[in-house]
Amino acid sequence: MGKRLEGKTILITGASSGIGRSIAQEFARTSPTSLKLIITARRIDTLKEVASAIEKEVGSGVKVLPVKLDVSQPQEVANLIPSLPEEFRDIDILVNNAGLVKGVDQAPDIKAEDMNVMWATNVTGLINMTQAVLPIFKKKLNGADGGRGDIINIGSIAGREGYPGGSIYCATKAAVRTFTDALRKELIATRIRVIEVDPGQVETEFSVVRFYGDKSKADAVYKGVEPLTPDDIAEVVVFAAGRRENVVIADTLIFPNHQV
Ligand code: NDP
Repeated sequence: MGKRLEGKTILITGASSGIGRSIAQEFARTSPTSLKLIITARRIDTLKEVASAIEKEVGSGVKVLPVKLDVSQPQEVANLIPSLPEEFRDIDILVNNAGLVKGVDQAPDIKAEDMNVMWATNVTGLINMTQAVLPIFKKKLNGADGGRGDIINIGSIAGREGYPGGSIYCATKAAVRTFTDALRKELIATRIRVIEVDPGQVETEFSVVRFYGDKSKADAVYKGVEPLTPDDIAEVVVFAAGRRENVVIADTLIFPNHQV
């Protein structure tokens, strides 16, 4: 599998913590000699720590570029590719992982600010990132080297079913799901693969963000349950990316054994 990923340039959003951080680490572990990883998020200092951790674990064969990026800001997304150093611009794999949930309010009480940040990040941000990278993939299709590209979107079990207090988050992830499905069909005659991975409960900073930074409330979410780890999701993402070209692991739901 590592061989198929050799030499790839991989762009990951939301790589400063949780699932995105683990995805970056897992790619580096799987193909430690020749990858280029562009790790992005808003917290640049944390991204630099992730880059150091990767280098410490696998050595300097993987080139890691931390880039500050807020996917909810269309202009930042539009500026991203032209601002990358030349050697990082030929992206092969985009992992649209950045996402968040804010609040646990029932639908009538949802704050406009929370609703807007969820849509702008989880949906518009993901679509804008996809639009920024697709021209690179399409150019590869016309090239002599047989290049292509993978788009890997991190959805959620919440995109398949609603839960009380999560209506907007669930709606954003349902939008990711249908966008991904339509995109896959639009690109079906190309060698561009469109992949969705939908996690169930995973222990990350996700719930800390949901409760506006209140860690004790976040910890209570996991009381008495055994959530997945970010590595569980990362392994699935890297496995899907490492399949031979004609194999698309299009749609995966992965959740803890006890989760209803
Ligand atoms: P974390 O909170 O640990 O990670 C979220 C990541 O997204 C962080 O790196 C954060 O970085 C980044 N991020 C948030 N907003 C933005 C933004 N506007 N621009 C750029 N980056 C942003 O949570 P998870 O790792 O759990 O979440 C990753 C993905 O997995 C999300 O899409 C989430 O919806 C999904 N998911 C999570 C589940 C879970 O139970 N944990 C279950 C199902 C799906 P920074 O703050 O530095 O910008």
